[in-house]
Amino acid sequence: MIHKINRYMYWFALTLFMTGAGVLISDNKELSHMVMLFLLSLAVCTFLNVLFDILFKFQAPSYFQYHEDIFYDTQWTWEWNINKEILNLKPTCPACHSELFYHFDTLLHQTEFVCEKCNKQIANVNSSHRNFVVESVKKSIVRKLKKEDSSF
Ligand SMILES: [Zn+2]
Repeated sequence: MIHKINRYMYWFALTLFMTGAGVLISDNKELSHMVMLFLLSLAVCTFLNVLFDILFKFQAPSYFQYHEDIFYDTQWTWEWNINKEILNLKPTCPACHSELFYHFDTLLHQTEFVCEKCNKQIANVNSSHRNFVVESVKKSIVRKLKKEDSSF
């Protein structure tokens, strides 16, 4: 998910500011004139707002849109930063969508994914190495992206 700054407050404040400034400068205190200035300011600010939206969309690389997939029979979600690094990689429960817990079974050499809410084991992987699953999923994500997105 890309975090966006909420601009609507500034957008509205700027509209009011421009209207006020326009009324003061023009020295015309008629209501219709003020309304016209307000609408004009609103149009200019809305245009700027839309322009910012387009620019922000252009800047967000397309791989930002790929933030969930299924690996090891488990739904994974993650976020990106602009250095193409995967952040907050989390396995989630297919039923209740809460985060799964890892259980490392060193005796059986398995990593189990458990949903505590559903009290259920969702999947298990044949490795008890702590970083194996996460690293493997990260590699799979990158491999998949490289195949589909030549700019990545
Ligand atoms: Zn669950």
